[in-house]
Formats: sequence, structure tokens, C-alpha cells
Amino acid sequence: MSKTAPICGIEIIKNGEPKARILADRLNSMDMQAAELLQDFTRRITGAKPEIISAESTPEKGDILIGNFQLPIEGINASDITEDGFALTTHDGYIRIVHGIGKGSIYGIVTLLEEYFGIHYYAADTYTIHKNKNMQIPAGIKRIENPSFRYRQTQSYSFTDPVYKMWHRLEEPEEVFVQNLWVHTFNSLLPASEFGDSHPEYYAYINGERRPGDASQWCLTNPEVFEIVAARLDKLFKANPDKHLISVSQNDSQNYCACDECRAIDEYEGSPSGSLIRFMNKLAERFPDKEISTLAYLYSVPPPRHTKPLPNVTVMLCDINCNREVPLTDNDSGREFIQYLEGWAAISDNIFVWDYGINFDNYVSPFPNFHILQPNMELFRRNNVSMHFSQIAGSRGGDFSELRTYLAAKLLWNVSADVDSLIKTFLDEYYGKKSAPYLYEYIKLREEKLIESGKNLWIYDTPITHKDGMLNRHMIARYKELFDQAEQAAAGEGEPPFLSRVRTARLPVMYAELEIARTEPEKDNSYLSGLLNLFRDRAAEYGITVLNERNNTIAEYCDTYRQRNISDRRNNLALGCPVTFIQPADSPYDKIAGTALTDGLYGGAVFNESWVGWEGRDAEFVIDLGRVREIQTVEMDFLHQLGSWILLPKRISCSVSTDGQKYQFMGQKDIPEDRETQVKFVDLSISADTKLQGQYIQVKIETIGLCPPWHNGVGYPAWFFLDEVHIY
Ligand SMILES: [Zn+2]
Repeated sequence: MSKTAPICGIEIIKNGEPKARILADRLNSMDMQAAELLQDFTRRITGAKPEIISAESTPEKGDILIGNFQLPIEGINASDITEDGFALTTHDGYIRIVHGIGKGSIYGIVTLLEEYFGIHYYAADTYTIHKNKNMQIPAGIKRIENPSFRYRQTQSYSFTDPVYKMWHRLEEPEEVFVQNLWVHTFNSLLPASEFGDSHPEYYAYINGERRPGDASQWCLTNPEVFEIVAARLDKLFKANPDKHLISVSQNDSQNYCACDECRAIDEYEGSPSGSLIRFMNKLAERFPDKEISTLAYLYSVPPPRHTKPLPNVTVMLCDINCNREVPLTDNDSGREFIQYLEGWAAISDNIFVWDYGINFDNYVSPFPNFHILQPNMELFRRNNVSMHFSQIAGSRGGDFSELRTYLAAKLLWNVSADVDSLIKTFLDEYYGKKSAPYLYEYIKLREEKLIESGKNLWIYDTPITHKDGMLNRHMIARYKELFDQAEQAAAGEGEPPFLSRVRTARLPVMYAELEIARTEPEKDNSYLSGLLNLFRDRAAEYGITVLNERNNTIAEYCDTYRQRNISDRRNNLALGCPVTFIQPADSPYDKIAGTALTDGLYGGAVFNESWVGWEGRDAEFVIDLGRVREIQTVEMDFLHQLGSWILLPKRISCSVSTDGQKYQFMGQKDIPEDRETQVKFVDLSISADTKLQGQYIQVKIETIGLCPPWHNGVGYPAWFFLDEVHIY
């Protein structure tokens, strides 16, 4: 398709004067939005705007006709157009757009503006426009375009601009799902706060008892649960007659019911999805003209052996446990997932895949996965996936956030799009042609080094995982060089947005450098202090506040970083001292436990680095100071990260001894429960009234045992994680 203006075609605007009118059905809101979008952008290109007139008017040659009122059109079979798809034709002297159900008329106009008039949309209120007094579209066009996925969702801060979202043909759950009930809806439909006390039998039987709670799953074989839920759905459907899709899906936790009835079904079906799909099929039979969506997530990912979902049950399958450095076909976690995907595809052609292209704990961190988006989406298409949520760090400041949404959206629409050319076009336009080559090299280089390193790219990993791989000292230096060059080039282009965009793209490299540096025994504090300030200032300047999914802010990160990793601390008597465990840590954290607690280096927001963890058990250990010292305070640093089932312990206590035999009690502290979802470092200390003599410091930490009912690990052991122990 030629993108340059053709010699002969249908004129929409000539010398700043409208030559065409837009015919649209005023009662069809999608067609009207499409007409207004075309009118608005025509005005932005030419300064003139074609008139919108009623669909009943008699069209003249050259007019633009939007909507299905004009059917049939010779040479176009309307039944070939699927949901959100459209036909665009000019072959008979009119510019025509017709559509399937959904928003096809709008998307047809977007294609017309993008492909024939070169308008590209890159972020909120950020698009290219080529001003021209003339606008004409080639004659002889006859095309039908259907999306690769009938439902397309991703994330972006730019959705505040409604045109941006429309342009990328993206949907949000609230537009499709009844009352925005689209995922983890068990507790909204059958709240534990309402039924938990009176009917604990409605909720999961876990570890010997019923455990009602906001995160507890249902007992799916309880007939009363079914009837209450069916009655609620009936009410919801009646209150929302314009929508037919609702999600009835497990809470965000592992704890499914293991009562005798549920367990018998799940054993027969080979998966807890057995009782789940049977329940959903019953709902689907009760509401045959509606669609019931449910999750295949964590424990319910493996498909049932015998029961098939009814056609009006949508299975939302999540690949949360997969690694991201290569396509799903190319690593073990991916291949395991594919087995399940194929299993579901064999029994359903109504699959919704929720795919994770995000690092939840570190949005502002390098996450090179552009090379796997397309092969993964192709794999999904081959396996009956018709709805897709490509979850990415769409927050402002997330790693190449704007490019990420752009790519995901283009592929969701057309899974065969040319990714490399899309990346290059985007970089040229958004960062400026002069800096684009450096950014392209950076993108390719980190991708190459990631694969070469053999490290996994995980949705909860940290730059520290890659400090000997794609983020090694040498590579960080190279990335910094590339960004220096890109910044210089962007500054040379003289347009302020280019430089600030390049600097925004650089933040993940700065963050990686900061994170890795805090794990190194030798630190250049003055360099780190400068880098930290620059990171903080740049983020503030560009309006970037959010660091991770737990809503920790960058400002807070910088403050904590300075306190924990840069500032001078008092003389810590425990530094480098050996630790002997009486109640050792759990695997794999026991491996580093011998040194991690006294190495002077603090853990960060990610538990799998530097932290020592105990799962549902008490901890007890002794620190040997080497000789008898005067001691007054023992300070312990705990991680609080509810999302990973890391809760604070119940109680800490300390005793001291001069000989390692007879211990003198120093004190204890009860730790209050903390339900905040933010990641926190919690410093707890025990101080004696007077200085004590001691060489051996015995520390006991008492677990809370199982996760409490309000937590999504209800009924399962809670972790606590400790890093440094300081003694003064
Ligand atoms: Zn049960």
C-alpha cells in the first residue's frame, strides 16, 4: 500500500476546501464517533472540515459513507467482517466504511488516517501530523481488516487521552465486563464479610478447617453457593442489559477448597480446574445467552481431564509462572505452559490469555522482552486464543513504556506486523531521528546480552539477578555511552521533548546501577549520592512517581536508599561476625544465611536477593562477636511485602551470654500486624536499660504461623524475611 499521495484518487479536501461530505447514522454512536474522528483530523491536517450529514441523504460521488446502512456493497461480503473488523473501499467512487459488531467503523477511520495520511499516535496527546491543504485517498481500494484478537487489552498511562486508546484499538474491562467484574471476583460475588461468620462452609476447607476470608476460594460443590451466586448474576445482568460478559473467578490466591466433595472431583479431573469448570458450566447453562469468564490461574492452570467448558464459558488463562527471556516455546517454564494451553485449546475455542510482559517489583528497570511478544502472540492465536491482555509496565517511566504499549497494541491488532520496522519508526518519531540509532542499539544489545547470559527474565526479578549478565559492569558502561550519545543527539535536534524522552528512557539504566551498587562491598558513596540525586531529580522533572506495583514511590525509594546504603552508620559490633543457626532458614535462603545477616549489606525490595527467610516456623540463631563486648541494642531489619506472603513475625527476643552457656534475657518485643500493601523495610530493635556484657547474642523470632484470613495466603504458612542484624 502506497503511503505517498497518489496522482489520482478521491479528493476529500482540495486547496483547503472540503470536496466530500461524511454520511453517518446519527443514532449509531460508534459510526458517529468515527465520523467525528475523521472530521477532526481532517481539520488538523488541512484546516478545513467536511460536513457530517445524515445517512438518509443521497450520496454523491466522492462522499465518505460510514456505517452498515450502505450494505450491500458490491464485491464485499459483510459476513467476512468479524468483531471490531471493517471493510474500507473506494473502488466505486465513494469512500466506504462498513463494520462487524463493535468498533470497526472507528478502527476503519484510524487505518485510513494512519496508512493514507501518515498520522501516528505515540503517547497521550503525542502524534505526528503532516499539514497539507489537500487530502485525497487512492481509488480502487477494497480491503477487509479483522483483528487478530477480538478483545485487546494492555496498559498505558496515555489512556487519559481517549483518542490515543481508540487509535490503538484497545479496550478496558469496564467496557466489556458487567460492572467491571473481570478478574478475581469471588469475594465481590460472595463476600466473606457477609457470609463468612454465618456460613463458613461456603468457603475453602484448608489444612483441616473451613477458612472464610476475603482471599479464600469457594467451596464449589456447595449447592447454596451456586444458588446465591446465580441469583447475584441474574441481578447484575438485569441491571446491565448492554453487557453480556461477566467474570466469576477465583480470588488472587492459592487456597482452593479441599473438602471431600471438591477433592474427589479435582482428583478425578486431574486438576482443581475440574470443580471450577463444572461450576461455571452450571452457570453457563443457567444463563445461556450470557458469557461466563473464569480464571485458569496458579492452581487452576492445568485443564480438567474430562469436563469441557461450554461454549459460553471463557477461560482466562494466565502464564504468570513463565520466564520471559525467550519465547514460551524455547524455555522449560514456557513449554510447561504450552502443554496446558494446548490442553485448554483442545476443549475450548474461547480462551483469553493474560500474558505478563512486566516486572512488577521494578517497573523502572530494564526489561528486554520485545523480541518475544510476536512469537508468543502467534502461539496464542494458533491455540484458539481470541481475547488477550498483554500486561506491561504502562506507567510513566516504566521501561520504554510508550514503545511497549505501541508494540503490544499493533500486534494485538495484527499479529503478523513487522516488529523491527515498528520499533524503528517509533524511535525515529518519538525520540527523534538523530538519537534513534543509539536507542535501537541499546535495545538490541541488552536483548542479545540477556540471551547470551542464560539468565531468566522474570516478572519479579531485579537488576541484581542480571549483574553478571546483561547488566554487568562492562555493559552498563556501554549503555551509558549510548545514552550519552543519544542525549547529545537529542539536544542537537533542538526540540525539548526529544531530550526529556531520551532521559526518561535512561532512568532504568540508572536504577539498575543504583540497585547493583548497593550489593557491592566496595561503594563509591559520593558517586552513588550524585547518581541518586540525578535519578530522583529527573524522575520528578518528568512526572514519574511510581516505582512498582505496590505503589512505592521513587522519592521514597531514594530516601530509603540513602538511609540504608549511603549514610554512615554507627559502629556495628555484629559486622562480619559468624552466625550459628539453631532454627535454620528455609531453602533456598539458608544458603546465604551464614553471612547475609552480618555482611553490612541491606536487602532491597525484592525478597530473593540478600534476604533470609523462614516459612511458618520460628527462627533462632546466635551471633558470636568474637570477644566479650558491651551491648545495649540489637537491631533487626525485616521485609514487609504482603504480595509475596512476607509478613512481619509475631515477636522478637534477645539474650546475651559471655560464655555461650548461660544466657541473660535482654528483652522482647511484640510486633503489631501491618496490613499495608506497600513494600516496607521494618527496623525493629531491642534495647536493654543498661549496658550488658556479652560475646554471644541469641536472637529468637516467633512466627505468626499461618497467613491470617484477610491475607490472600489465608490458611497457608506466612514467611518472614530478615536481613541485617546490627548490634551496638
Ligand atoms: Zn469444597
